[in-house]
Amino acid sequence: MGDVRKIVIALLLGIALGALTPEVAPGPVASFLMGTYGFLGTLFLNALKMVIVPLITTSIISGVAGVGGTRSLGTMGIRTFFYYMVTSLLAVLTGVFLVNIVSPGVIDGAPLAQALGLNGLGEAGGATLEKVRGADFGAILNIFYDMVPPNVVQAAVEGQMLGIISFSILFGVFIPRIGHDYSEVLFRVIQGVHEVMMAITEFIMRFAPIGIFALVAKVVAEAGAGDLLGLAKGLGLFCLTVVTGLLIHTFVTLFFALLKVGHRNPVDHFRAMVPALVTAFSTASSAATLPITMECLERRARVRESVTGFVIPLGATVNMDGTALYECVSALFIAQALGVETSLVDQVVVVWIALISSIGVAGIPAASLVAIAIILKAVGLPVEAMAIILPVDRFLDMLRTAVNVFSDSVGAVIVDELETSRGET
Ligand code: ASP
Repeated sequence: MGDVRKIVIALLLGIALGALTPEVAPGPVASFLMGTYGFLGTLFLNALKMVIVPLITTSIISGVAGVGGTRSLGTMGIRTFFYYMVTSLLAVLTGVFLVNIVSPGVIDGAPLAQALGLNGLGEAGGATLEKVRGADFGAILNIFYDMVPPNVVQAAVEGQMLGIISFSILFGVFIPRIGHDYSEVLFRVIQGVHEVMMAITEFIMRFAPIGIFALVAKVVAEAGAGDLLGLAKGLGLFCLTVVTGLLIHTFVTLFFALLKVGHRNPVDHFRAMVPALVTAFSTASSAATLPITMECLERRARVRESVTGFVIPLGATVNMDGTALYECVSALFIAQALGVETSLVDQVVVVWIALISSIGVAGIPAASLVAIAIILKAVGLPVEAMAIILPVDRFLDMLRTAVNVFSDSVGAVIVDELETSRGET
């Protein structure tokens, strides 16, 4: 059986068994099964995280050193950032358009919170709210500090990606500038380590069906399938708005970009990325998915290593189209649910902060919540009101993470195409 088929079957089995576990298994059996799902899922996640630091450092260094000078690196960097900005903006605009048309926060003309009799919203999701309460716009500026870490080893230990990325870019830039004797050897050693990391990733991918099954089964069993979809809590329309936005962004905007700018068959590219997309869905972490995203791009979608090595680690950290869309829809939905009118200026503020904060949001589960708290504060809404979306956040996190990863992969194809069409290698 092909790898992709195994992964998709594992995903479906995870959903089915996860939904059945609390329903049909007697108490002790259910807790044994939950323990097993948790154990296997964590092992898989740990294995992926284990390769991230050596993989991204070696891939960026060899990508940058191999790209042929700072001028080519500069053009590649500008194209990459242009792609990130344009697609994130399109995602955000899709979200804003849909949430205004559908108005998921209003039911039969009444704000949702009132219609459902939701008072004391702040009491739900207390622990999560505690974490995000202190977030403010100033925190977004931390990304500049993160780019220049005072201690690169500490940045690596803490998995602080931006710091590792900027150090690796500098390292790659300066390799060709030292004596040939050293640069030649160094470049080959780093490329060798990169090859080993890719081989280890390929090995870990063999366990992907088990890991994906376990991660999904645990999430579904814990939340209950109905609650995950938000039907039970009147959040069905909100979920539908987010999901429709993510689908339009993926299958219209990104497919169009792939076809017209990347000159690739979008369906073939989507197929090549399925292992990474399913992993993103089950882990809800674009950072943890990074090794598999690179593997799929280099080995299945045939994008050049020098491009993926630069575009993907950067993209997994700063390019989050699904997240930006979700932040906008959530913030405006919460305003609607509370019966608060948002002016055009408020909506522009929401769009702007969603764009900027999606750059700073980490590629880990539920990271958007901090950004949503910042947006709510900026437009004068109570952070406590975020409790309304928490029951469905995990399910939507899984979907938006898959979109984040897909957009990164499209960016790699487009940058690769643009570099090739200009005769640059
Ligand atoms: N989980 C998302 C990611 O890893 C970030 C977020 O939107 O919470 O890409």
